[in-house]
Amino acid sequence: MTCADINMHNKRVLIREDFNVPINNGQVVNDLRIRAAIPGIKQALDVNAQVILMSHLGRPEAGVWQAEYSLQQIVPVLQDLLVQEVKFIKDWPVAIPREDKIVLLENVRFLPGETENDPILAQQMASLCDVFIMDAFGSAHRAHASTVGVIEYAQCALAGPLLEQEVTALDNCLYNAKKPIVAIVGGAKISSKLAVLQALVKKVDILIVGGGMANTLLAYRGYSVGKSLYEPSMLVDAEDLLLAAQQSKCKIILPIDIVTQHGVVKHVDAVAADDQILDIGPESTKIFAEYIAQAASILWNGPMGKFEDAKFAKGTQGIANAIAQANAFSVAGGGETLAAIDQMYLNSKFSFISTGGGAFLEYMEGKGLPAITALMNKRNKC
Ligand code: ADP
Ligand code: MG
Repeated sequence: MTCADINMHNKRVLIREDFNVPINNGQVVNDLRIRAAIPGIKQALDVNAQVILMSHLGRPEAGVWQAEYSLQQIVPVLQDLLVQEVKFIKDWPVAIPREDKIVLLENVRFLPGETENDPILAQQMASLCDVFIMDAFGSAHRAHASTVGVIEYAQCALAGPLLEQEVTALDNCLYNAKKPIVAIVGGAKISSKLAVLQALVKKVDILIVGGGMANTLLAYRGYSVGKSLYEPSMLVDAEDLLLAAQQSKCKIILPIDIVTQHGVVKHVDAVAADDQILDIGPESTKIFAEYIAQAASILWNGPMGKFEDAKFAKGTQGIANAIAQANAFSVAGGGETLAAIDQMYLNSKFSFISTGGGAFLEYMEGKGLPAITALMNKRNKC
């Protein structure tokens, strides 16, 4: 059951959003997550529901209010996007006046019990509404009071449109995907994404690995990686991963050339002891782009190099451009990955940009996300 199937007319609708956005000096730096929440909010407003929004922001200490974690900072952005006044409520849970059409509640993580999924807090949240909508995909991997507990106690708890879109997009790349499926994974450390890589080799046809994490795989294959970011403790896992890929007939593609800290392009067999690998080289970018061009489904997480420095951004830019041009269903996710896509103004060229960081990775790992499981187990009285 989804929120499109039920009558929310004049009801009190509590929506868990993911408004955990980057904020600098009180200004929202990137409003992707807020923009993504708007359709779900409008759906409720259109049928004259009272809309109550709750979210977390950052990781404050529970019980201690701090201005830097206050959701009041996002009110101007939310009002601009909704073209409507938003009433901010700092101290809650309290009864919410019915005349306030759109309410934003203060950061749920200021409340003791939120991250412990305290049942009393979850009941208090549930009592604020007739219908609870979970639309925070980016928080769906957390079993907290506002993401899981409230689902158990609400009379009626449903998945919101963003949550549904996210799951559908990822399923379209992993489970109901058109083949060939090409996944591109990068980022700093292989240890942080090992579980994702292990899950991907079982599902995708081509797994391209770039960024710092490729160094450990190159080292396993016998190449010297000099002073590059490299995790010797992961060599055993590197071996297991390459074996698992072979068994699943997943082709793993690694860089054949790289860019050193001095901006010099070298073949992977020519890396010297004091070299540091900070980007993939032009030949690798070309080869990766050829695989991407042949894909029917593309999943991308993790930059190909230290792209924050323009000298080492070409690999990441090349991959972003290749995906943008591909005639495939493409999904990208991850904090730095989205920052790179945003820098290049390529957002609209992707079929879907995921708002989930950790949740996106955990969904790719094939883990059930606690909030989604809670929604599936819910016996609703809507
Ligand atoms: P995402 O947030 O998209 O999931 P990660 O957080 O895993 O991505 O990784 C992003 C970081 O990885 C970037 O800050 C980038 O500078 C770093 N990185 C990528 N390649 C390298 C490399 N070769 N050496 C050092 N750092 C790298
Ligand atoms: Mg990151």
